[in-house]
Amino acid sequence: MFNVAIDGPAGAGKSTIAKLVAKKLGFTYVDTGSMYRAMALACLRAGLTAEDEEKVCYICEGLDVSLRYDGNGAQQVILNGENVNAYIRTEEVGNMTSAIAVYGPVREKLVELQRKLAKEYDVIMDGRDIGTCVLQDAPVKIYLTASSRTRAERRYKELMEKGVECNIDDIEKDIIDRDYRDMHREISPLKQADDAILVDSSNMNIEQVVEHLVGIINDKRK
Ligand code: C5P
Repeated sequence: MFNVAIDGPAGAGKSTIAKLVAKKLGFTYVDTGSMYRAMALACLRAGLTAEDEEKVCYICEGLDVSLRYDGNGAQQVILNGENVNAYIRTEEVGNMTSAIAVYGPVREKLVELQRKLAKEYDVIMDGRDIGTCVLQDAPVKIYLTASSRTRAERRYKELMEKGVECNIDDIEKDIIDRDYRDMHREISPLKQADDAILVDSSNMNIEQVVEHLVGIINDKRK
């Protein structure tokens, strides 16, 4: 199988880009963040706070998380038989996710599932630890980033278009806090793998980033 690893901080556009590249090249897109989000949702629903490590790990170990693809090829996350896609994109779930993703038992099961998918399909997998941990042997690794202000502006625009009232400085603060937690945790922190190609999308539009990545991948596949 030919696998592509994409890592980077929150809001860098990983999922938008990876989805489009996967479609162009006929790869399967795997969004690992949504798997962690499903676990965080289950913890929130159980009334837990992230500090309650023992209970969080206990709940997560008992969960069944899997992926399904709808008719348009869009990834759906299935949590104990329920499609939870509609509930995992909120800021509350995002913040809870990075707070519980620090725990080893929460990660182990998902990493195993991610490696299994990469053995079965040509995948473009995005997350925080794909190039450094999950798919260390991937022939293409990308580290996609952008300035925190650019990322906050993109998120702000997205929320405003959905009619959600928000404040750009709060969004930027959330993004910086989340990056800090993801980069400084003990297990599988977010960092650029030694053999990853750095792509800074601050001054690029979506099409430009997609073309750039398609070029990198096609060069490696030759
Ligand atoms: O990419 P997304 O914003 O959906 O990820 C949500 C959170 O899940 C991240 O902030 C990070 O804490 C966690 N995550 C992770 N490892 C991954 C993917 C996501 O720890 N491979």
